[in-house]
Amino acid sequence: MFEQIKLDYATNALEPWIDQVTVETHHGKHHVTYTNNFNDLVEKAGLTGKTAEEILGNLNAVSDTVLRQGLKNQGGGYYNHNLYFEMFSPSPAKAPTGKLADAINQKFGSLDACIEEISKLAAAQFGSGWAWLSTDAKGELFVSNSLNQDNPISEGTGHTPLIALDVWEHAYYLKYKNVRPDYIKAFWEILDWKKVEDRYNSIVK
Ligand code: MN
Repeated sequence: MFEQIKLDYATNALEPWIDQVTVETHHGKHHVTYTNNFNDLVEKAGLTGKTAEEILGNLNAVSDTVLRQGLKNQGGGYYNHNLYFEMFSPSPAKAPTGKLADAINQKFGSLDACIEEISKLAAAQFGSGWAWLSTDAKGELFVSNSLNQDNPISEGTGHTPLIALDVWEHAYYLKYKNVRPDYIKAFWEILDWKKVEDRYNSIVK
């Protein structure tokens, strides 16, 4: 059974950047539904025991196209939101250090430039979707955006996501209404670069 991550902060701890009702609805309702639906589909597809990465990275092995699309949507919804909520903190590290800091400077020139590139992709994503910072196994970084709940794993790029920026309206509409760029700015205020760095170091040996 796949389980949602437990928040290691209170639902009001991300204010004023993300409000309590949005966290309660997003984590307590939307993410719950994705997780329950994913568990049902995994059982239906006979994939019990596989990791979410294994399932999302091998969707072509599912011959039933309706089931395959369901696993992509609901499995992405499960996995993407775990990553999204995991990386927040009310008292975040505002910059990475070590190998991740080096990789960011090498690829983008500076942390600000990296944030700018991801923010642009997030703002430009038409309709519901995500913006990403991902790494390959050797530690080279990539930015991208995607539709719906698609993520770099299910797109078969061979990249593992480090940062997941949700730009579905449910992520920001209660507080920011139509002003997605303000929500995107707020996202960086609570993103904990220490957590991102720990994830990077666990992937890139
Ligand atoms: Mn969401």
